[in-house]
Amino acid sequence: MKLTGPPRRHFASDNYSGICPEAWAALAEANSDHAISYGDDAWTQKASDLIREVFETHCEVFFVFNGTAANSLSLASLCQPYHSVLCQELAHIETAECGAPEFFANGSKVLLLPGAHGKIDPATIQRAVSKRTDIHYPKPHVLSLTQATEVGTVYSVDELRAVTAAARHHGLRVHMDGARFANAVSALSVTPAEITWKAGVDVLCFGGTKNGIAVGEAVVFFNLEAAREFDYRCKQGGQLASKMRFLSAPWVGMLRDGAWLRHAHHSNAMAQRLAAGLANLPGVRIAHPVDTNAVFADLPQPAVAALHDRGWKFYTNVGGWEEARFMCSWDTTPEDVDKFVADLRAIVTPPAVPQES
Ligand SMILES: *Cc1c(COP(=O)(O)O)cnc(C)c1O
Repeated sequence: MKLTGPPRRHFASDNYSGICPEAWAALAEANSDHAISYGDDAWTQKASDLIREVFETHCEVFFVFNGTAANSLSLASLCQPYHSVLCQELAHIETAECGAPEFFANGSKVLLLPGAHGKIDPATIQRAVSKRTDIHYPKPHVLSLTQATEVGTVYSVDELRAVTAAARHHGLRVHMDGARFANAVSALSVTPAEITWKAGVDVLCFGGTKNGIAVGEAVVFFNLEAAREFDYRCKQGGQLASKMRFLSAPWVGMLRDGAWLRHAHHSNAMAQRLAAGLANLPGVRIAHPVDTNAVFADLPQPAVAALHDRGWKFYTNVGGWEEARFMCSWDTTPEDVDKFVADLRAIVTPPAVPQES
């Protein structure tokens, strides 16, 4: 059975792409020898040390299989079951994790905040925590924000500080879903420290998969107290890999020479190219600022179908948004983008009316 055709890259998700060369090479290196299991190996040690270097601080690091587990388990470590977690209404923890945060936190409720372009407006935090302060309502205890957001925007350093300051003011802990954290760092040209612990983030779920790793996210605790016994939580949650080095080695490959930022920079640049290509097409409207590797656009309905007919894969109705979503990956090429734009242009441009001569 043939499972692969001629190479074709899509814009459906940044998890459609394969494994980047740096992560692949590190996997091969890790595969050349025996190693201690369950994370007591040199690769896991090295990957954790590299993450501490990247963040310029001591932090506790855990490698898990996916983002849902990273978010759910880290939120659970910040919450008692009678607590609630505030997040933007499009947040992955609300729209795309099948209730896992509530499940792993044994009942902590996720409460939704409105806000433009996927971001939390600090004023809504004040409203949410003061709406009810009685014992009959789950006590707000954590603010979860996503950087880059589900719609590809980023909180600027000032916006982030305003949100985390409001959270701190009300005694909330701060969780950051960083499934596309690398894209945010690249977009903002900041140090990772500046938009995490220096801005009051207690725990970051640092995404690897969408940036070129095969499998895995790193849970990075800046609040060391919150990391206590997190290893037990991972094990009970089915997230302790026995051959841990195959989760951690790719991080060494990504971090040791800066590949993680190069790939993010590239996927962001491809989204800029795509947005520029779509900007002036008739009937096409870009829906959110293109800060990272996502372009959200309203397209005429027939154009969506026509693009699908031409074999392009992308989503139009996942995660609470209505627009078409186009994600660029570490391996998206300028030619991929141009080919897609040319196809859409051909679809939406009315044919010239033949002139009598
Ligand atoms: C992809 C993604 C995740 C992780 O999802 P998994 O499929 O569980 O790995 C988490 N948060 C956001 C914002 C994402 O886009």
